[in-house]
Amino acid sequence: MRVPYIDIHTHDRDKQDDVLSLQNCIVSKDHFPSTICSVGIHPWYIDNDFDTQYQISETYAASENVLAIGECGLDKLTETKWEKQIRCFELQIQLANIVGKPIIIHCVRAYQETFQVLLQQKVAVPVIFHGFNKNTALAQSALKKGYLISLGADILFGSKNNLINNLPLEKVFLETDDKSISIVDIYTYFCAARKISMDQLRNQLAQNFQNVFKYSYL
Ligand SMILES: [Zn+2]
Repeated sequence: MRVPYIDIHTHDRDKQDDVLSLQNCIVSKDHFPSTICSVGIHPWYIDNDFDTQYQISETYAASENVLAIGECGLDKLTETKWEKQIRCFELQIQLANIVGKPIIIHCVRAYQETFQVLLQQKVAVPVIFHGFNKNTALAQSALKKGYLISLGADILFGSKNNLINNLPLEKVFLETDDKSISIVDIYTYFCAARKISMDQLRNQLAQNFQNVFKYSYL
Protein backbone atom coordinates (compact mmCIF):
# COMPACT_ATOMS: atom_id res chain seq x y z
CA MET A 1 0.00 0.00 0.00
CA ARG A 2 1.28 3.48 -0.86
CA VAL A 3 1.49 5.93 1.96
CA PRO A 4 -0.66 9.07 1.68
CA TYR A 5 0.63 12.55 0.97
CA ILE A 6 0.80 14.37 4.28
CA ASP A 7 -0.34 17.96 4.65
CA ILE A 8 0.84 18.96 8.08
CA HIS A 9 -1.03 22.25 8.30
CA THR A 10 -4.14 23.33 6.46
CA HIS A 11 -7.16 25.54 7.03
CA ASP A 12 -9.06 23.74 4.29
CA ARG A 13 -11.85 21.43 5.47
CA ASP A 14 -12.26 19.43 2.26
CA LYS A 15 -11.02 15.88 2.17
CA GLN A 16 -8.85 14.79 -0.74
CA ASP A 17 -8.11 11.28 -1.87
CA ASP A 18 -4.68 10.03 -0.99
CA VAL A 19 -3.96 13.01 1.30
CA LEU A 20 -3.79 12.92 5.06
CA SER A 21 -4.40 16.45 6.33
CA LEU A 22 -3.88 17.88 9.75
CA GLN A 23 -6.50 20.59 9.94
CA ASN A 24 -5.82 23.63 12.01
CA CYS A 25 -8.47 24.81 14.46
CA ILE A 26 -8.14 28.33 15.82
CA VAL A 27 -9.85 28.37 19.20
CA SER A 28 -12.93 30.68 19.30
CA LYS A 29 -12.78 31.21 15.54
CA ASP A 30 -13.13 27.76 13.96
CA HIS A 31 -15.46 24.89 14.72
CA PHE A 32 -13.73 22.05 16.46
CA PRO A 33 -13.32 19.35 13.79
CA SER A 34 -14.02 15.65 14.28
CA THR A 35 -11.03 14.68 12.12
CA ILE A 36 -7.37 14.85 13.15
CA CYS A 37 -6.29 18.40 13.83
CA SER A 38 -4.09 20.84 15.66
CA VAL A 39 -5.73 23.22 18.11
CA GLY A 40 -4.38 26.50 19.35
CA ILE A 41 -4.81 30.18 19.99
CA HIS A 42 -3.40 32.13 17.06
CA PRO A 43 -1.70 35.42 18.00
CA TRP A 44 -4.09 37.29 15.68
CA TYR A 45 -7.11 35.96 17.55
CA ILE A 46 -6.50 36.31 21.26
CA ASP A 47 -9.86 37.08 22.91
CA ASN A 48 -10.38 39.83 25.46
CA ASP A 49 -11.67 37.07 27.71
CA PHE A 50 -8.47 35.09 27.34
CA ASP A 51 -9.10 32.93 30.43
CA THR A 52 -12.22 31.40 28.92
CA GLN A 53 -10.54 30.97 25.54
CA TYR A 54 -7.62 29.24 27.19
CA GLN A 55 -9.94 26.91 29.14
CA ILE A 56 -11.63 25.89 25.89
CA SER A 57 -8.24 25.17 24.34
CA GLU A 58 -7.38 23.02 27.35
CA THR A 59 -10.55 20.96 26.90
CA TYR A 60 -9.90 20.48 23.18
CA ALA A 61 -6.23 19.65 23.70
CA ALA A 62 -7.09 16.48 25.58
CA SER A 63 -9.23 15.08 22.73
CA GLU A 64 -7.94 12.08 20.89
CA ASN A 65 -8.23 13.66 17.43
CA VAL A 66 -6.02 16.56 18.50
CA LEU A 67 -2.52 15.58 17.44
CA ALA A 68 -0.79 18.90 18.13
CA ILE A 69 -1.08 22.25 19.86
CA GLY A 70 -1.00 25.32 17.60
CA GLU A 71 -0.64 27.12 15.47
CA CYS A 72 0.49 29.48 18.16
CA GLY A 73 3.44 31.78 18.61
CA LEU A 74 4.60 35.33 18.10
CA ASP A 75 3.91 37.84 15.34
CA LYS A 76 5.50 41.27 15.13
CA LEU A 77 3.14 42.37 12.38
CA THR A 78 -0.14 41.93 14.22
CA GLU A 79 -1.77 44.51 16.45
CA THR A 80 -2.20 42.13 19.35
CA LYS A 81 -0.26 43.48 22.33
CA TRP A 82 3.15 41.86 22.66
CA GLU A 83 2.73 40.99 26.37
CA LYS A 84 -0.56 39.29 25.56
CA GLN A 85 1.10 37.27 22.78
CA ILE A 86 3.91 36.18 25.08
CA ARG A 87 1.53 35.13 27.86
CA CYS A 88 -0.65 33.20 25.43
CA PHE A 89 2.32 31.48 23.82
CA GLU A 90 3.85 30.53 27.19
CA LEU A 91 0.60 28.91 28.32
CA GLN A 92 0.30 26.91 25.12
CA ILE A 93 3.83 25.58 25.45
CA GLN A 94 2.95 24.52 28.98
CA LEU A 95 -0.23 22.90 27.68
CA ALA A 96 1.68 21.03 24.97
CA ASN A 97 4.09 19.78 27.62
CA ILE A 98 1.20 18.60 29.82
CA VAL A 99 -0.68 16.75 27.09
CA GLY A 100 2.56 15.55 25.48
CA LYS A 101 1.66 16.66 21.96
CA PRO A 102 3.88 18.48 19.43
CA ILE A 103 3.55 22.22 19.03
CA ILE A 104 3.10 24.00 15.66
CA ILE A 105 4.59 27.45 15.61
CA HIS A 106 3.41 30.58 13.83
CA CYS A 107 6.33 32.99 13.76
CA VAL A 108 6.53 36.33 11.99
CA ARG A 109 9.65 38.44 12.44
CA ALA A 110 10.15 37.08 15.93
CA TYR A 111 12.44 34.07 15.64
CA GLN A 112 14.86 34.99 18.39
CA GLU A 113 12.03 35.83 20.79
CA THR A 114 10.26 32.59 19.91
CA PHE A 115 13.42 30.55 20.52
CA GLN A 116 13.81 32.31 23.85
CA VAL A 117 10.25 31.60 25.07
CA LEU A 118 10.51 27.94 24.00
CA LEU A 119 13.69 27.65 25.99
CA GLN A 120 12.37 29.47 29.06
CA GLN A 121 9.26 27.30 29.08
CA LYS A 122 11.38 24.16 28.76
CA VAL A 123 9.48 22.82 25.79
CA ALA A 124 9.61 19.03 26.00
CA VAL A 125 7.64 18.09 22.86
CA PRO A 126 8.53 18.27 19.17
CA VAL A 127 8.48 21.85 17.83
CA ILE A 128 7.53 22.52 14.21
CA PHE A 129 8.02 25.91 12.56
CA HIS A 130 5.20 26.02 10.05
CA GLY A 131 5.26 28.02 6.81
CA PHE A 132 9.00 28.49 7.13
CA ASN A 133 10.19 30.83 4.38
CA LYS A 134 13.43 32.22 5.78
CA ASN A 135 17.03 31.44 4.90
CA THR A 136 19.09 28.31 5.40
CA ALA A 137 21.09 29.82 8.27
CA LEU A 138 17.96 30.50 10.32
CA ALA A 139 16.66 27.02 9.53
CA GLN A 140 19.93 25.60 10.77
CA SER A 141 19.73 27.42 14.07
CA ALA A 142 16.22 25.99 14.55
CA LEU A 143 17.41 22.49 13.58
CA LYS A 144 20.32 22.75 16.00
CA LYS A 145 17.81 23.21 18.79
CA GLY A 146 16.11 20.01 17.65
CA TYR A 147 13.16 21.75 15.98
CA LEU A 148 11.49 20.75 12.71
CA ILE A 149 10.66 22.79 9.63
CA SER A 150 7.49 22.77 7.56
CA LEU A 151 7.58 24.31 4.08
CA GLY A 152 4.60 25.56 2.11
CA ALA A 153 3.63 27.29 -1.12
CA ASP A 154 6.46 29.82 -0.80
CA ILE A 155 8.93 27.22 -2.07
CA LEU A 156 7.21 27.21 -5.46
CA PHE A 157 8.68 30.58 -6.42
CA GLY A 158 12.16 29.10 -6.76
CA SER A 159 14.10 31.11 -4.21
CA LYS A 160 14.15 28.38 -1.55
CA ASN A 161 16.07 25.69 -3.43
CA ASN A 162 19.14 26.17 -1.28
CA LEU A 163 17.01 25.66 1.81
CA ILE A 164 15.35 22.57 0.29
CA ASN A 165 18.77 21.07 -0.41
CA ASN A 166 20.14 21.70 3.05
CA LEU A 167 17.42 20.35 5.29
CA PRO A 168 17.80 16.87 6.76
CA LEU A 169 14.85 14.98 5.26
CA GLU A 170 13.87 13.53 8.61
CA LYS A 171 13.24 17.05 9.93
CA VAL A 172 10.94 18.22 7.14
CA PHE A 173 7.20 18.52 6.66
CA LEU A 174 5.13 20.07 3.86
CA GLU A 175 1.88 22.00 4.08
CA THR A 176 -0.68 24.02 2.13
CA ASP A 177 -1.74 26.34 5.01
CA ASP A 178 -4.43 28.74 3.74
CA LYS A 179 -3.41 28.58 0.07
CA SER A 180 -5.67 27.04 -2.53
CA ILE A 181 -3.03 24.74 -3.88
CA SER A 182 -2.57 20.99 -3.89
CA ILE A 183 -0.09 19.40 -1.48
CA VAL A 184 0.92 17.18 -4.42
CA ASP A 185 2.31 20.25 -6.23
CA ILE A 186 4.44 21.11 -3.20
CA TYR A 187 5.73 17.52 -3.01
CA THR A 188 6.47 17.58 -6.75
CA TYR A 189 8.42 20.81 -6.52
CA PHE A 190 10.39 19.62 -3.51
CA CYS A 191 11.35 16.35 -5.28
CA ALA A 192 12.56 18.19 -8.38
CA ALA A 193 14.63 20.70 -6.41
CA ARG A 194 16.09 18.03 -4.13
CA LYS A 195 16.51 15.48 -6.93
CA ILE A 196 14.79 12.65 -5.13
CA SER A 197 11.93 10.43 -6.22
CA MET A 198 8.34 11.03 -5.22
CA ASP A 199 8.26 7.61 -3.55
CA GLN A 200 11.26 8.47 -1.41
CA LEU A 201 9.69 11.74 -0.30
CA ARG A 202 6.28 10.19 0.36
CA ASN A 203 7.80 7.45 2.48
CA GLN A 204 10.05 9.82 4.37
CA LEU A 205 7.33 12.33 5.25
CA ALA A 206 4.96 9.55 6.27
CA GLN A 207 7.69 8.20 8.52
CA ASN A 208 8.31 11.69 9.96
CA PHE A 209 4.61 12.04 10.64
CA GLN A 210 4.49 8.76 12.52
CA ASN A 211 7.62 9.55 14.50
CA VAL A 212 6.57 13.04 15.53
CA PHE A 213 2.80 12.73 15.90
CA LYS A 214 2.62 9.09 17.01
CA TYR A 215 -0.31 8.60 14.71
CA SER A 216 -0.89 5.52 12.67
CA TYR A 217 -3.11 5.90 9.63
CA LEU A 218 -2.92 2.25 8.72
ZN1 LIG B 1 -2.01 28.53 9.23
